[in-house]
Amino acid sequence: MQTKLLCPSADPTAIEQAGALLRAGEVVGIPTETVYGLAANALDPVAVSHIFEAKGRPQDNPLIVHIASLDSVQEIAATFPPEAQALAQAYWPGPLTIILPKQDRIPMVTSGGLNTVGIRFPSHPIAQAIICAAGVPLAAPSANLSGRPSTTTAQHVMEDLNGNIAAIVDGGPCTVGVESTVVSLCGERPRLLRPGGISLEQLEAVLGTVEVDRALREKIDDTEKVSAPGMKYRHYAPKAQVTVVFGTPEASADYIYAQLGENSGVLCFDDCAARFAGKAVVETFGPSGDAAEQAREVFDALRRFDDTDCTEIYAQCPPSDGIGLAVSNRIKKAAGFHIIDLTEGQA
Ligand code: AMP
Ligand code: MG
Repeated sequence: MQTKLLCPSADPTAIEQAGALLRAGEVVGIPTETVYGLAANALDPVAVSHIFEAKGRPQDNPLIVHIASLDSVQEIAATFPPEAQALAQAYWPGPLTIILPKQDRIPMVTSGGLNTVGIRFPSHPIAQAIICAAGVPLAAPSANLSGRPSTTTAQHVMEDLNGNIAAIVDGGPCTVGVESTVVSLCGERPRLLRPGGISLEQLEAVLGTVEVDRALREKIDDTEKVSAPGMKYRHYAPKAQVTVVFGTPEASADYIYAQLGENSGVLCFDDCAARFAGKAVVETFGPSGDAAEQAREVFDALRRFDDTDCTEIYAQCPPSDGIGLAVSNRIKKAAGFHIIDLTEGQA
């Protein structure tokens, strides 16, 4: 299959072409504010099964259903409780996925066999225009090969999926850079299943206390039952083994410097890069004090290591407040939760 690159900035028919492909049951890579999505008609089980094939994604890993109007929630979710409405009011359109009980018209293949469904109203104008042009809700996981870092440019999507999908719509680099926050409203209390573009603090400002799923902090065994199935799989990983070194930028840089061998790589903050020059392959992902910039750069930096000869990578990691929780979660997952915590034992 020839994968078409569609550019709305140069071609006024690009959005309509993407919509027509989606209506015809094809899979299309689309830009969103979080990461690129691999979209298909969420109501068509055959189209959705092609997403799983193109990515090599395990069947029990549910997809998020993307909408472009609040009214669509009623067609997808069995209930739209006041807490969900309050979240939608505060953070939609935006990088937040709300899990609700699903309606029967959402096929089981879309929800990974669950009776619940993740719904998101993205803010990216091109994503919204494509959903409207398709005329159906779009199921879309991140547009990467399963296990690889998510994609934040159309070129990343080409690297992973060229030849396997009908088209990719180029909307430029993603402005958030990490995936949406996933919050479940299906249990007794609201539960954060995945940190992302909306922070835990922002959720709690609307919902009060939010429980944090265990899968955010530790590695979950492949055989275990978890609330967000995606959290148990190896994810975001470059080919080389990653070790996260958690501590202040100075302490982690000192520690990493002492470990460097012949084929080491370092994923570090901009302001620590000079320290490693000539000693290791260095990829930076933003200033130590700017987690929003780190979110935009982290997946691209992880991908760049695959063009190098590194056999091991040491990674710095931001503190877990604000969007730093999402950045540190992605780096820890890239490392398979192989973490050196220099703050352990400190008060
Ligand atoms: P991706 O789009 O690749 O970021 O994957 C979407 C992720 O959202 C999944 O891996 C799950 O962790 C989560 N998710 C989607 N739908 C549900 C659901 N119904 N219940 C729990 N988690 C979900
Ligand atoms: Mg993904």
